[in-house]
Amino acid sequence: MTPSPFPQTATPSDRVGRVLGLNPGLMTGPGTNTYLVGRRDPILIDTGAGVPGYVPLLERYLGERGWRRPARVLLTHRHRDHIGGVRDVRARFPGVPVAKMLHRDAELPDGIEDLRDGQAVHGDDVTLRPVYTPGHASDHLCYYLAEEKALFTGDVVLGGSTTVIPSDDGDLIAYLYSLQRLLALDVQRIYPAHGPVIEDGPGRIREYIAHRRERESQILAALEDGLATIPAIVARIYVDVTPALHPMAAMSVESHLKKLAKEGRVSESRQRDAPSRWEVRA
Ligand SMILES: [Zn+2]
Repeated sequence: MTPSPFPQTATPSDRVGRVLGLNPGLMTGPGTNTYLVGRRDPILIDTGAGVPGYVPLLERYLGERGWRRPARVLLTHRHRDHIGGVRDVRARFPGVPVAKMLHRDAELPDGIEDLRDGQAVHGDDVTLRPVYTPGHASDHLCYYLAEEKALFTGDVVLGGSTTVIPSDDGDLIAYLYSLQRLLALDVQRIYPAHGPVIEDGPGRIREYIAHRRERESQILAALEDGLATIPAIVARIYVDVTPALHPMAAMSVESHLKKLAKEGRVSESRQRDAPSRWEVRA
């Protein structure tokens, strides 16, 4: 059975509308979800990648709902597929305030306001509470919608796949801590930045935690068996995964090895012109 195509717009609840960023890809699935939260004067969460068709689609959806413009824009994190549309959204809706957590940002559009964990943003009949959730990105905020006990998870929890922990700015220890933090909230539904709505939010978060634990034991088992490099470990553990995704898999294995190294459980010996060799510490 062919899965039905992911809709360009949707209205998953009274308070939440969704407009697709129109940037499908290997890493983005159907594309980035952007959300309009509120009943009359909606807050826009994320802006897609800056694909030219996005703002017209956003306008069409606003029109369908009888809305004029977004009251403000909140961003989950600095990755291009979330902030790439800021310029176009501002050009179409001049003066719209844009906020994110300002943290280790190399380059950002001008005039973005800082937003911190717990600093509630009030819309009409909605309150969005930022929750600092580093791990996928060091500046990542999820947004908790108290009125629905729902969570906008950005890239921390996804609709269709697991989250990447990039080697430069990611941190698996921080990521697992962030998942525990989300689990402690009173969450029902999750609105992820990629893929469909997740009805059982806590169930999915627990799956993510279990998945990482399983990966970790697979990696330790591979090391015990004498596989000492990331390519060797990827070749064993990701044998069923298309080679196109092996670079991402390598990043994931690296994030686990870095975590284990920080915990003193493995050690790395760097090689000249060859991948590092890793071993379990006695
Ligand atoms: Zn991201």
